Amino acid sequence: EPLIEVREIGKSYGNVIALRDVSTTVAAGQVTCVLGDNGAGKSTFIKILAGAHEHSSGELLIDGVARHVSSPRAALTLGIATVYQDLAVVPLMPVWRNFFLGSEPTKGVGPLRRLDVDFMRRTTKSELSAMGIDLRDVDQPIGTLSGGERQCVAIARAVYLGARVLILDEPTAALGVKQSGVVLKYIAKARERGLGVVFITHNPHHAYPVGDRFVLLRRGRSMGEWAKSEITLDE
Ligand code: ADP
Ligand code: ADP
Repeated sequence: EPLIEVREIGKSYGNVIALRDVSTTVAAGQVTCVLGDNGAGKSTFIKILAGAHEHSSGELLIDGVARHVSSPRAALTLGIATVYQDLAVVPLMPVWRNFFLGSEPTKGVGPLRRLDVDFMRRTTKSELSAMGIDLRDVDQPIGTLSGGERQCVAIARAVYLGARVLILDEPTAALGVKQSGVVLKYIAKARERGLGVVFITHNPHHAYPVGDRFVLLRRGRSMGEWAKSEITLDE
């Protein structure tokens, strides 16, 4: 059974039909790529999975159960985490603090709770290294990391928070070829760990190296879905 099954989903904004009868699946250990130019409906598709918008028609099955995901928090409860292109990080704070942003473990009693800094440092380091990123120093401000490394930290954080499905919004679009390579390796690692990944991009070249299946959207419609063995890319 797939983690997510999207069945003929549609979404309208007033008179504008942003998605029409789009179907696909997200399976554990697979990368589903959603491709399309501007206006194709990619952001709308993300928002529906991420709990930011509800679909107008069709069905969204999560673990076989039809759902309307009503908020990002509800999405995370269902195991779906979204990593956006513009990451919400605090550049001057250490990597470990960003890793735990909003969910910092504390020690002690009373009104002054002490952050469990040792735990956060240790966990950040081990979670990152389990995914193949060895940071010299998790105390450095996250702003000093490369764009690719920051993207990896965001993905590792989602995995740590219990995500089974990662929705990645243009994870390589703002990166050069080398940094993209870092992120693609990381995505491959997540797949190895059995996560289902949705890779959303306007550029097929970015998704092709790690993609298992490819859905092409155009003006809100699905032009089809193919396995990697069924497609090739022109330069
Ligand atoms: P993409 O991310 O692939 O560029 P979008 O999902 O953003 O595509 O947009 C799909 C279509 O829906 C476009 O025609 C866009 O103008 C329209 N659209 C997106 N968001 C809204 C909105 N909030 N209100 C009205 N129309 C929207
Ligand atoms: P863009 O239009 O996004 O700048 P191009 O389509 O011009 O990217 O990229 C040209 C080639 O360089 C492609 O074949 C692609 O393999 C590679 N490339 C460029 N940027 C990236 C990236 N961020 N991730 C992966 N490959 C890239």
